[in-house]
Amino acid sequence: MAKKTIQDVDVTGKRVLVRVDFNVPQDENGNITDDTRIRAALPTIQYLVDHAARAILVSHLGRPKGVDEKLRVDPVAARLQELLGRPVRKASDVIGPAVAQQAAALKEGDVLLLENVRFYKEEEKNDPEFARQLASLADLYVNDAFGTAHRAHASTEGVAHLLPAVAGFLMGKEIEYLGRALANPERPFVAVLGGAKVADKIGVIENLLGKVDSLLIGGAMAFTFIKAQGGEIGKTLLDADSLDVARETLEKAKARGVQLILPTDALAADRIDASANTRVVPAGQIPDGWAAVDIGPEAARQFAAVVSGAKTVVWNGPMGIFEVPPFAEGTRVVARALAEANALTIVGGGDSVAAIEELGVADRISHVSTGGGASLEFLEGKVLPGIAALEEK
Ligand code: ADP
Ligand code: MG
Repeated sequence: MAKKTIQDVDVTGKRVLVRVDFNVPQDENGNITDDTRIRAALPTIQYLVDHAARAILVSHLGRPKGVDEKLRVDPVAARLQELLGRPVRKASDVIGPAVAQQAAALKEGDVLLLENVRFYKEEEKNDPEFARQLASLADLYVNDAFGTAHRAHASTEGVAHLLPAVAGFLMGKEIEYLGRALANPERPFVAVLGGAKVADKIGVIENLLGKVDSLLIGGAMAFTFIKAQGGEIGKTLLDADSLDVARETLEKAKARGVQLILPTDALAADRIDASANTRVVPAGQIPDGWAAVDIGPEAARQFAAVVSGAKTVVWNGPMGIFEVPPFAEGTRVVARALAEANALTIVGGGDSVAAIEELGVADRISHVSTGGGASLEFLEGKVLPGIAALEEK
């Protein structure tokens, strides 16, 4: 799945429509509280500036229903201007004659940010006429918004069929790392999966079962498997609808010779609260009225050992309720093992990424995916429409 990137085409002098993911969190006053996503797009934007292209950026922000004054992208333009250290113009709209004029007036190295693309319902409907109007602004399309690549919207998919279409640096890195892990992993290849519900991750489990050497399962999810095997899980969060799927998965793993490892012990708590009473118990013997809130120390050591011996590791889903500090140890131990492993390490998923950032090890992971839902769908082996529409190398 080698896709053309911005470096495979000539951008000089061209008007380049760039789909970025500037969907940043804001406080009540519209102040941007985390500009990671803007920073993540800088290499592509800087490259276009350095190569005398005329950059026309487009993103969604929030979930507007029609025009929403609170979700205009002016604060994003202002922050981008600061980070880029050069003027960023802000268009008054996404499409239309005024925008066309602003796009046409751009000089080499100029940057224009269009208004919130989701002000138009045509965006999410992938309306062909809307896509055509977007495309008419530019000579070339660059998709750098991996986080929305799993959606076939006008600015992520429709427009890619109307212009030469390539990946930006951020998108290129996602495709390269996630693609390499799935298509051509150095072995042993280990997947660590956690989180709340089996149902959310079953697609990933099924796809990875056909590829990995070992599958480590933690989080609440592990206890649905343990329950399916007849264990006692007390009041641990149970995904009751997935008990059969869990049983089938255990059988499939056995049939395929994949080592599927569940936690042997657990941290049990009498409440989901930092001041709860806790004790370490065997994973299948959670006392009545207590819940497993983390994998236990023995399981954490075992998971870390398997990760340490791996050459490729994919991690999605925390090992416990890491948001509550006393329940974060399993996640911490596994995160540290990834950071120290002599392996290609990839972390995807909103909460998993938050966990490794909080633990301060993100910079020691080979690739931290910027797309929550998109990285999950990629790991499920699905074709992401925003990627599929880009030109092959
Ligand atoms: P990601 O966003 O990385 O894909 P998920 O959203 O699937 O991860 O799972 C994260 C959530 O799972 C966290 O909110 C965490 O508290 C929860 N979780 C993990 N282990 C448990 C557990 N033992 N009991 C209840 N919730 C859990
Ligand atoms: Mg999540």
